[in-house]
Amino acid sequence: MPCPWYQGGVCTSPKLSKPSAAVVSKERCLGSEAEYKSCRFYVDPEASTRKSPLEQAMKPALEKQLRPYPAIHLLSSKPRSDCPFIKIYTYGGGYLAYCTVLNRLLTRSEVARCEKYWSTCPFYKLGLRSKTEQVA
Ligand code: SF4
Ligand code: SF4
Repeated sequence: MPCPWYQGGVCTSPKLSKPSAAVVSKERCLGSEAEYKSCRFYVDPEASTRKSPLEQAMKPALEKQLRPYPAIHLLSSKPRSDCPFIKIYTYGGGYLAYCTVLNRLLTRSEVARCEKYWSTCPFYKLGLRSKTEQVA
């Protein structure tokens, strides 16, 4: 099993300000659990769902499905992006943004880029390509 943050040659760890291939080392990212857990960009996906008082007020079903970590995912205003791959959820008095290409929630800094630069986002292009392949 590869590192849970490894997606198609890119590290999608929430510790990064944006997904990056520059930090990927196939040996480590696709290596054993001990190897990828020693990576400085690794965050335990389970630990990120431990409940804070804020999280306790949130919807349990959505929490289970999306595993939000309010410190990095909770948005105070509704994101405005024309990207067809972004999904917005109302959650815990704010909003969450989910990328259907990355299959995970977006961090605040990522959402800011999805709002401004979605048409040049590599994952937007990847999503378009896989859509085209599905139709073909
Ligand atoms: S091992 Fe580190 S660099 Fe590789 S995907 Fe996981 S968190 Fe990212
Ligand atoms: S702009 Fe990129 S990262 Fe953001 S939702 Fe669209 S495909 Fe995903």
